[in-house]
Amino acid sequence: MSFFKTLSVDDSNDNKSVEMEAAENVKCLIIGSGPAGYTAAIYAARANLNPVVIQGMEAGGQLTTTTEVENFPGYPEGVTGPVMMEDLKKQAERFGTDIRWGEVTSVDFSKRPFNVVVDNKKPFIAETVIIATGATAKYLGLESEERYKGAGVSACATCDGFFYKDMNVAVVGGGDTAAEEASYLASLAKKVYLIVRKPYMRASKAMIKRVENTPNIEILYEHNTKEITGTNVVTGATLIKRKGQPDEEEVKIAIDGFFVAIGHKPNSDLFKDYIETDEVGYIKTIPGTSKTNVEGVFAAGDIQDSTYRQAITAAGSGCMAALDAERFLGEQE
Ligand code: NDP
Repeated sequence: MSFFKTLSVDDSNDNKSVEMEAAENVKCLIIGSGPAGYTAAIYAARANLNPVVIQGMEAGGQLTTTTEVENFPGYPEGVTGPVMMEDLKKQAERFGTDIRWGEVTSVDFSKRPFNVVVDNKKPFIAETVIIATGATAKYLGLESEERYKGAGVSACATCDGFFYKDMNVAVVGGGDTAAEEASYLASLAKKVYLIVRKPYMRASKAMIKRVENTPNIEILYEHNTKEITGTNVVTGATLIKRKGQPDEEEVKIAIDGFFVAIGHKPNSDLFKDYIETDEVGYIKTIPGTSKTNVEGVFAAGDIQDSTYRQAITAAGSGCMAALDAERFLGEQE
């Protein structure tokens, strides 16, 4: 059932008045179209919740920027990220999921049913909402980094490390992620340079000890990346040692892969007035469930997971969110 309502809202982007479209009532609105969102959709559709998925700006999520995915069970020969996401989308559609273009621009979770507006003009009145908006890897912001994304520059060692067997790679970052990615890569690659901008790392003591004690990891403290160099693919990087100091010097390293591990930003800004997050912005869920602090709003995938951040764990939590939503709606009847 849908009802018509015409409203005028102030569109802060261009200051124009936007005519509101007809609102639609949905049982289960899924925000985000990565492995978590689509898996939630598959389960919710099969449970007759008639889910609507709002794809978001990056339809298909982070995996659409990955090349080969070899660690998702069920693909013995591997699969590319975009193909895998298309498969997940088709599977969700097969059971009747309604997938829409657009980006959620505002939400009101103060009372149920919840109000969710897409592209400033399309309101949805949702009995349950599953937030699966993911997290975005931070990059250094270099032009050369953009140029080699997918051709030697990656933000996920677990996804892409395998392609650098017996090669030389660099990891940039000084936190636990960088230390973990350097350790993982050291088990595959010939040599790993760990580029840390400060004279120390902020990772946990145990992780620092581990990278320091790994023979094929060389930690380059007080180094900043100036440029990633190459031909069609990455072949090296130019670093600045002790940037801004009187003894500043340029250092060149020969590498085949450049892994950026300087943190992720969870895409939770839109929900922060209603949904509890940790200090970084990851949505807090009740352990062992996908439930947030708002009854009827669930979270799945990287938006609530700073630890594992894998397609398969995201998919698993998407399944949990759909089952939690189904049970919640059952309890309301
Ligand atoms: P962090 O925010 O902890 O660390 C980011 C690192 O990147 C810092 O060393 C920072 O340097 C560096 N950095 C940021 N911007 C730049 C830049 N422009 N150039 C060079 N370096 C830069 O992120 P993590 O992803 O490592 O960790 C996030 C959270 O997840 C942490 O709480 C961490 O403990 C946790 N985690 C836990 C794990 C575990 O327990 N197994 C595994 C992975 C993460 P600087 O120090 O100079 O600011």
